[in-house]
Amino acid sequence: MIRGAAPPASRRHRSGLVLRGEAAAPGIAVARAVLFERLVVPVFRLAISRRETAAEIRRFEEAVGEAERQLERIRDSTLAALGKDPAYLFEAQRLMLRDPLLVDRVRSEIRERRVNAEWALRSVLQELESVFDGLADEYLKQRKGEIADVGGRLLQNLAGPTHPPPERGDRKQVVAAEDLPPSDAAELDWSRTSGIVMEAGGPTYHTAILARTHDVPCVTGVRGLLRHLRIGSPIVVDGFEGIVVVGPSRDTLLDYRRRRVRVRERRRRLRAAAAGRAATADGEEVAVMANLDEPGELDLARRNGADGVGLFRTEGLAAREIPDEEEQFRIYRGLAEALRPDPLVIRAFDLDATRIGRAPEPNPALGLRGVRLLAQASTIFETQIRAVLRAACFGDVRFLFPMVGGLEEYRAARTHVNAATRALRHRRAEFRPAPLGAMLEVPSAAATADHLADEAEFLSVGTNDLVQYLFGADRANERVAQVGDALHPALLRTIRFTTRMAARRGTPLTVCGEMAADPLTIPLLIGFGVRSFSLTPHAVPEAKRIVSGIHTAEAAELARASVHLTTARRVRARLLRQAGGRASAGSNRAGGGAGA
Ligand code: PEP
Ligand code: MG
Repeated sequence: MIRGAAPPASRRHRSGLVLRGEAAAPGIAVARAVLFERLVVPVFRLAISRRETAAEIRRFEEAVGEAERQLERIRDSTLAALGKDPAYLFEAQRLMLRDPLLVDRVRSEIRERRVNAEWALRSVLQELESVFDGLADEYLKQRKGEIADVGGRLLQNLAGPTHPPPERGDRKQVVAAEDLPPSDAAELDWSRTSGIVMEAGGPTYHTAILARTHDVPCVTGVRGLLRHLRIGSPIVVDGFEGIVVVGPSRDTLLDYRRRRVRVRERRRRLRAAAAGRAATADGEEVAVMANLDEPGELDLARRNGADGVGLFRTEGLAAREIPDEEEQFRIYRGLAEALRPDPLVIRAFDLDATRIGRAPEPNPALGLRGVRLLAQASTIFETQIRAVLRAACFGDVRFLFPMVGGLEEYRAARTHVNAATRALRHRRAEFRPAPLGAMLEVPSAAATADHLADEAEFLSVGTNDLVQYLFGADRANERVAQVGDALHPALLRTIRFTTRMAARRGTPLTVCGEMAADPLTIPLLIGFGVRSFSLTPHAVPEAKRIVSGIHTAEAAELARASVHLTTARRVRARLLRQAGGRASAGSNRAGGGAGA
């Protein structure tokens, strides 16, 4: 990722308050700010007079109307991104808003008990939940969670909006937050979001990854943001430099608007050039694939010239509940067919324990997660594997295990593939074996990459987690986000070892962490021998352009020198020097580096 280099012209300092954070998604946004806050809604019981009941009922009805509009929006965007079945979940929630058992009951509570809407709603929700508790049918029992979800939405609407309100037509807004968790970010109306700024997080926080995928500039780790923010006033988000300008002057606004136009124009040109396969200046082929967080991103990946999908994060499919085998098969098959003959790497669910109904753990990143959890949840795991193996009949489908700690865990995961294979055979279902791979994102796996390369059919280096675990620095915690630096020689040496081990055994290796999307580090990774990348879809064109300017011998020299430098800062300085040289040598070829 691009980190804040030198501050921009000092003129900008005088023409608005400049706050610094981490550049988490490139681009420039200039728009009004709205504040996102996840509310823990306190509910008070208030007595109201008979005369006030009509107004209180109206207030409740407005909250219901708002919830209907929100759910319609979520349903439609889910339909576009994920298809009919998951979208139906939100349609069902919308229909609950018309159920007399809920809405009529709340109205009569307000009227008869003369209480405020929040309290009336809370009482009715409790009643309904106890009815569901008493049901014998497991499926119906599960619906209790959906009522609570709808109820929570209504309570939030009574307290005030949380997502960008549909303010004055389709005007785009910058969403500012102390923390915008990924599950809430997934529900944002991205078409109306021109930028994201938050106090928490770092560039590898999944919210930042979502922002990059949606091509929305994002700056994370901005200390003091909420203290200085003026809601409804213009704000500038510079996702290249990691800068936020609060209360910009007219000149600053104009300046950034011009930059934004140049950036868009440059992107358009890059996209046009990214249609073919990438090769280095001396003719070595390099695959530049895309990471997908949801199936709907495939179009963007293809438009940007991705040579396949090197990482499909399937956790997004399990956001509400885990889809059954048929639904997963339908999704995987659709992607495989659309990509054929290019590869589709499906990663097994990388969930933490709470997502499958287990008790929360004190430190989920170091707990039961990825294949460790799946090994204990064999029904979920083997259902997914069966869907993957069936989809493998329709394209080049590969299956990747997340959070592998070493050979034992890889082998344990493989036994579930064997069990799923037996089940498919028994059922006489059509399927094909899929190549199995291991993520190298835990240091113990990276340190034994030679053993894993002997048994796995491919490897994928996940630098987001690898940095987090190597440095013991939580990737979502802005206070330590700077500690884990992907350019630190500790990571570079680890990558050098893994690429060497994979090459010696002829095991294909891809780098799929966010590091692969950083134009500055691509030459370094090529120097280590990496010939396959998978990155956020919007970064594909720029990555291909960078690749085409690289001479492999030069890159190898750069990599050799970098691992002997002592700090990340020195490595960065060296890479910047090299990039500067390349940019001036290549600026004629690239037609000038406008804006970015
Ligand atoms: C990684 O850890 O680098 C990776 C690609 O996986 P995720 O970002 O989904 O954890
Ligand atoms: Mg990971």
